[in-house]
Amino acid sequence: MEKIYAMLQLQNELNNDTNGVQWRNDVTKNGKRINWKRCIYMETAELIDSFPWKHWKSIDAQPDLQNIKLELVDIWHFLMSYLLKFNELDAAAKLIDNLKGTRSDIKIQKWDNEKVDEYLDIFEELMALALVKNDSEMMQEALLEQFFKACDSVGLGFDELYSLYIGKNALNQFRQEHGYKEGTYKKIWNGKEDNVVMQEILAAHPDISYEALKEELRKIYETL
Ligand code: MG
Ligand code: MG
Repeated sequence: MEKIYAMLQLQNELNNDTNGVQWRNDVTKNGKRINWKRCIYMETAELIDSFPWKHWKSIDAQPDLQNIKLELVDIWHFLMSYLLKFNELDAAAKLIDNLKGTRSDIKIQKWDNEKVDEYLDIFEELMALALVKNDSEMMQEALLEQFFKACDSVGLGFDELYSLYIGKNALNQFRQEHGYKEGTYKKIWNGKEDNVVMQEILAAHPDISYEALKEELRKIYETL
């Protein structure tokens, strides 16, 4: 429950800082419309593209599991924002706590081309739910439940979701502080994407705090 609170609080702050406090009215401080469910289904499309589903291209490729997990973390940013738009922090935390044990009966161990539809069904169902124009509590729960099934299908447990979320949130905050919106941010760090560098820091220091991680990112960025 502590981790759920921490993530909701960080997401709330990130939204306030990036979009302004009126983000709950679906508009940023720059007057840009916000549509969280569109963010969710588009990130889900990115996730699906990390699987070798194309019958005409790279037919022997393997799924990019690490990227699939990162796309789930991207979805998680938007899904928490969506929940926070409709629910107070306490209520959102309760919803998440109730549904975080949701299990999928399909576990993707090794890519099996024959099972492509079975594997992708879980993600397409998530996308389908995000496309429904209904924000009732039942639909919010269904979306959340399907998200945890999707995590489970690729073996992304709650603790790993938490640490990747903290990492990605720190990176997002860092990007905003270094010209991401203005287009002046450098995304490639010594030949690696900033995402990859962030994951390397997490792997080397699994218990690193949010602030210490940002400090590590800053140290590297200053040398570029
Ligand atoms: Mg094309
Ligand atoms: Mg993404």
